[in-house]
Amino acid sequence: MTRTELVTLLARQIEAWHEGDGALGVMVVRLQRVREFGQFYGYAAADALGEAAYARISSVLRPQDTVVRVGLYEYVVMLPGLRGDNHAALAGARVVRAFESPVPVGQRTAPIAVKVGISVYPDHGRNAERLLHNAETAYGASLHDSDDSALYDAEGTPPLIPYESLQQAIAANRLDVHLQPMMDLRTRRIVAVESLARWHDEQLGWVAPDRFIPLAEETGLISPLTRWSLNATLRHAARARAIDPDLCFSINLSPRVFGERDLVAQVTSALGIWNIPASAVTLEVTESALMEDPKLSLRRLEDLRMEGLGISIDDFGAGYSSLAYLKFFPATELKIDRGFIVDLRDDRRSIQLVRSIVDLGHHLKMRVVAEGVEDAESLAMLAEMGCDCAQGYYIQRPQPADDFIDSLQPATEPASPLH
Ligand code: C2E
Ligand code: CA
Ligand code: CA
Repeated sequence: MTRTELVTLLARQIEAWHEGDGALGVMVVRLQRVREFGQFYGYAAADALGEAAYARISSVLRPQDTVVRVGLYEYVVMLPGLRGDNHAALAGARVVRAFESPVPVGQRTAPIAVKVGISVYPDHGRNAERLLHNAETAYGASLHDSDDSALYDAEGTPPLIPYESLQQAIAANRLDVHLQPMMDLRTRRIVAVESLARWHDEQLGWVAPDRFIPLAEETGLISPLTRWSLNATLRHAARARAIDPDLCFSINLSPRVFGERDLVAQVTSALGIWNIPASAVTLEVTESALMEDPKLSLRRLEDLRMEGLGISIDDFGAGYSSLAYLKFFPATELKIDRGFIVDLRDDRRSIQLVRSIVDLGHHLKMRVVAEGVEDAESLAMLAEMGCDCAQGYYIQRPQPADDFIDSLQPATEPASPLH
């Protein structure tokens, strides 16, 4: 059955629903780790396995439940007349348990695991699309859950951000720049600030960048967002550097924009407009993102570096280790992932790791920055290890750019000799 047919079928069940009928459950079931089965035994055997699993699922459900096979190893089940969430969860558990013994397929038997996601009408959605979407979300949660079956959790899932809201917020310049300082661990002076995007929406309230940046990346809005971020940050940079001419700025760059031909021109023209030297700006790129397309990343980073910009490898150590590539990337800075820094005080392995990363960065002639520093003890340890800079709540939380700039003191003149 196609997805459209499925949606139609489910919509019909919803239409026929009456108050007092009980809840209507929608369950997504997928067999796990079965791809090899088809590769080994061929399509006919794979299809037979899919059919056998269909029969197995049907065998543990009630006569009024409808099981639909929507893919080779995928099923959607409609469960009318449920007595509530627990009843729905019970159906999920029954399906999981049905696969405790291997499934016979022709001459063979296949050990099969399944994962199940369930949503319930009317609580988890008022139409077929939303119910299916939420059952998929629950399925996604089941992948990380030892229970193998998950019920949609309306409270645990923040509301979706409508694409149009973000698009309009970017277009209308309604995002804000917050700045968080980085401290030089030798001089204890603030030498740079990182620009972090903030969004306050009338309906949604404060939306964290961890939610809207991925949305922007998935939908292509990351291009206008990057243009906004470059211009808005450099506008603040111009004002800040009028007070402290040595202050440097770090801007996060999503590698999703590396595909854009005019990226380098965008950056240099923004620098020109605000009259900021390229050497005062560092672009932060996350390590794992670099690895998605190392060749393209390398080319773009080289172009940007040639223009004189600094390049920082953000969240270093959190992603796939790319030590082999590290020596090729024209990076000027390594930013150690927060995850290592929070453990510094209590975990000896983290101490060793951070020490090694500091040495590694220095051997490669990079500045090393620790982020996520939350206490004095960690700061002292990092200084002792020779880490160059630190950033984190202990030094200062990110704050609105204007507030930060208003608090800036002009760099003190060297004390003039008394005589
Ligand atoms: P990031 O680049 O790793 O930014 C550092 C994050 O750590 C920020 O979260 C910051 O508020 C937080 N942080 C700073 N000090 C501490 C600390 O001591 N403890 C803890 N627990 N956290 C600390 P934020 O602002 O929520 O940003 C999250 C991520 O969103 C950023 O991670 C960055 O990847 C992305 N992002 C933010 N603004 C932009 C932007 O303008 N463009 C792009 N492409 N990405 C952005
Ligand atoms: Ca960053
Ligand atoms: Ca980071």
